[in-house]
Amino acid sequence: MPKPKKGPLVDLSYAEGAGGEEYLKMLQNAEETDECPLCPESLSKKNQILHCVRKWFLIKNLYPYDNADTHLMLIPVEHLTGIEEILPTDWEDIENLIGWAKGEYPTFKMGGGLVIRFGTNSGVTVRHLHFHLITPITNPETGKVFKGKHVNFPIG
Ligand SMILES: [Zn+2]
Repeated sequence: MPKPKKGPLVDLSYAEGAGGEEYLKMLQNAEETDECPLCPESLSKKNQILHCVRKWFLIKNLYPYDNADTHLMLIPVEHLTGIEEILPTDWEDIENLIGWAKGEYPTFKMGGGLVIRFGTNSGVTVRHLHFHLITPITNPETGKVFKGKHVNFPIG
């Protein structure tokens, strides 16, 4: 049984510049239909679950940030909205999913970033809690990011 959603699902005030017109349409649709775009039962057809470990799953970010080699999202199955809702046992699932990503995507073996926004000042657009798991475009010979190809992650 899905957890009842509390508060607005999306925050359109941060939508500009994030993923273009298609992204904005997706957010507006979520607002109109009151259907959370990150709850497993309402994921878009072109964005199916890549891997799931107990209470968390991974999908591709359909709107990857500039210079991202791979941009995944690590999401709780349950519609959580606050960072304080992440339990100590959840970190085991999160670690397992990162391990899976390292096996699937060569750049994750070299490194990347795991980032989460929370609260009203963070720039979060979809209020279903989610981590961004990102690797930059990386030189496979050096294991370092190509000069000028770093990924910016805006907060706020
Ligand atoms: Zn949700």
